[in-house]
Amino acid sequence: MTTTRIQKEILDKAISLHGHLGPFLVLGLRMGLRAVNTIGRPSSCEVFTLMRKPYVCAVDGLRAIIGNNIILREGEGLSARFSNGKDRIIISVKRSIVEKYAKTPWEKCEENALLIMESRDEDLFES
Ligand SMILES: [Zn+2]
Repeated sequence: MTTTRIQKEILDKAISLHGHLGPFLVLGLRMGLRAVNTIGRPSSCEVFTLMRKPYVCAVDGLRAIIGNNIILREGEGLSARFSNGKDRIIISVKRSIVEKYAKTPWEKCEENALLIMESRDEDLFES
């Protein structure tokens, strides 16, 4: 069982970068942390998702973890390919999670963000 704890300062940084707390921001954080924990700090990242909110909110979450070397590409669902020049990893958020949280009404954004924060990696990501 792996739950990557999000430190408060990282969360605060992501919120100030992005402007609000929501589930896709936290999904971006979780994806970035999983990448760092697997291959170390990535030097590049390509994100594949729909080019609209809330999906693109994940980019700011990723940015809070790995910096600005992020390329956003049109895709389905939410996934990202990370590389550190040597190793690569693809992290895909489960489609059921993407679909469920994309429907989050504005007033439930923070509540759902907390649910993502507390979820286990295996519940969020395809293995
Ligand atoms: Zn957002």
